[in-house]
Amino acid sequence: MRINRRDKVAFLDRDGVINEPPGGSGYVAAWEQFHFIDGALDALRALKGKGYRLVVVTNQQGVGKGIVDIAALEAIHRNLCACCARHGAALDGVFFCPHLASDGCDCRKPRPGLIHQAIRHLALDVDFSGSWLIGDSPRDIEAGAAAGLNTLLIAPGADSAPSAPASAVAASLADAVQLL
Ligand SMILES: [Mg+2]
Ligand SMILES: [Zn+2]
Repeated sequence: MRINRRDKVAFLDRDGVINEPPGGSGYVAAWEQFHFIDGALDALRALKGKGYRLVVVTNQQGVGKGIVDIAALEAIHRNLCACCARHGAALDGVFFCPHLASDGCDCRKPRPGLIHQAIRHLALDVDFSGSWLIGDSPRDIEAGAAAGLNTLLIAPGADSAPSAPASAVAASLADAVQLL
């Protein structure tokens, strides 16, 4: 008889974890501006191979500011999902907060609402002790910790010591996979 296994989930920030942090306006407003970080797709596939569900949770305040069109953002995420699926790293979902920091919503990290939203929407039965939030900002780490997840800070510069109390630190998503 098979024992029901709970879901090991990797909740992933997007910008600076999967794709190069955007320059210019600070927002990726079109697919042409979305550039995968070297090794990120392989890392996602490796995470999947280790049994993790893959869920992207991203703050996209550019929508609230009128810099990023919501239809364009959804197109970016459709393309992202297609690329990941083609690479054997199909994402379970992409969830974004479109609000302004000043809106005081529950879904903008460092609040954990977006993670809760993903859990509800995907009906995940999260194994919290075996699940992670992976992000490159203290905001991500705070949100993950508030949701009860292990946290991993991506800190590309060796000199950027983590100020947030993450459970682990790695230079890239590719390096992070070794720790999970
Ligand atoms: Mg980021
Ligand atoms: Zn929000």
